Amino acid sequence: LAIPDFQRFKQGVKEIFEQVREKELGGSVAKYIPQLASVDPNLFAVSFCSIDGQRFNLGDADVDFSIQSCSKPITYSIALEEQGAAKVHSHVGKEPSGQSFNHMSLLVKRKLPHNPMINAGAIMTSSLIQVGMPLYKRFGKVTEIWSELFGGKKVGFNNSVYLSEKDTADRNYALAYMMKEAGAFPENTNLYESLEFYFQCCSLEASTDKMAILAATYANGGICPITNTHVFDPSTVRNCISLMASCGMYDYSGEWNFQVGLPAKSGVGGAIWVVVPNVGGFCCYSPPVDELGNSTKGLEFFKMLSERYAFHMMEPQ
Ligand code: GLU
Repeated sequence: LAIPDFQRFKQGVKEIFEQVREKELGGSVAKYIPQLASVDPNLFAVSFCSIDGQRFNLGDADVDFSIQSCSKPITYSIALEEQGAAKVHSHVGKEPSGQSFNHMSLLVKRKLPHNPMINAGAIMTSSLIQVGMPLYKRFGKVTEIWSELFGGKKVGFNNSVYLSEKDTADRNYALAYMMKEAGAFPENTNLYESLEFYFQCCSLEASTDKMAILAATYANGGICPITNTHVFDPSTVRNCISLMASCGMYDYSGEWNFQVGLPAKSGVGGAIWVVVPNVGGFCCYSPPVDELGNSTKGLEFFKMLSERYAFHMMEPQ
């Protein structure tokens, strides 16, 4: 078993959860689209799933939230599976940007977006999925894969989040045009469709319960621990979690890697999903985020978790 005494582990994590719940950590609910601004800031949940399918849920673990940037690693993984790493990385880099998630900049030498975990890079990987297919097929394919990552549970889609995303997308259009001007997109890319597809992926919804199963699928080398379905190749998982480790937490990624030391991805909706390779996956949800876009309770929860358990990847064994 990945976690020999599961009840004891659950108890330990619950203690951290309860301590974090009581803390005043500040932050505020993301307001850049009206649909996110109306979320209850007191929602709080943590879910865990081990690579052998042992699970627990704490708090509001069945509440669906806006996945936002937490979708970026999945979009990147699908692009890797379809196009191979060499092709994908001829359009997107592997470097942390050292800037905010929607910053207007490209790699200095190659004029490509820095990495697939920020907006520009995710718009790029969106253009590399189901190329040439109509949008309904591309979206259909992606939701099928999400469902496999959730052990057969369905991924939600929030249409009003999508519509407000689209209505307030000037920066994302600007990023796409900046990349177009630099010649970064694959030939024949339909810019508008790539953006549409990107907005749709940001507007997916799920609970921490489902996201922990997804995280555990990554921890398990791409095989869902609930259904044993092979979702991604081990090389896709390795590439994806490497970039999550260096670029997954916005402009806090270095600090996070230092303190927590685990591959993770954060979204402005207030979720963070975390992979403990060969052990299991976590998802924490609490809507108030700090100025960089990371959930304040989420950061505290994972810092305390990493202090208590020897999960840090660089931990001497
Ligand atoms: N949908 C957001 C945007 O494109 C993503 C924000 C995020 O979660 O980082 O601006």
